[in-house]
Amino acid sequence: MILSKDRKLSSNAAVDPQTRFEELVERLRETGHRLTPQRVALLRLLAASDGHPSASDLYDELHAQFPTTSLGTVYKTLDLLKGLDEVLELGFSHDDNRYDGNNPYPHPHLICVRCRKIIHPDVSMAQDLVQQVARQSGYQIVSHRLDFSGVCPDCQRHQQSPNGSET
Ligand SMILES: [Zn+2]
Ligand SMILES: [Zn+2]
Repeated sequence: MILSKDRKLSSNAAVDPQTRFEELVERLRETGHRLTPQRVALLRLLAASDGHPSASDLYDELHAQFPTTSLGTVYKTLDLLKGLDEVLELGFSHDDNRYDGNNPYPHPHLICVRCRKIIHPDVSMAQDLVQQVARQSGYQIVSHRLDFSGVCPDCQRHQQSPNGSET
């Protein structure tokens, strides 16, 4: 997997989940880690990272397929992938950490304050922003965090009709 330094600093581009899954499997294989069926299933979930799942979201899905899986197994694999820079962890002070294994490089997120859905805003300026900050400060930027908070369209619709009425 060859990535430019720029992609590592900011990329909004989602990778095809199947391609990403194969990358993750290969990465664990080349670093000499065991690939149990549970772990492979977890890599598949992380490769998609649909909605930026929390560890317990991942556990719930995995447990449905592998009833012997524990939450500890999920955390162990997440820690392993974090150590390899293959998963991006989004930490929150009042909420569970969330994970993006599809794109492990820092990139902007859009977070709904009601339903906690996390998506990727369709923006291309993050890369320019990082370069601008580096230029102006003289810092060698190694990471960044860019979160937008808001109320998603679904939650706005519910908000507008608290008693089931339209207005
Ligand atoms: Zn993300
Ligand atoms: Zn919402």
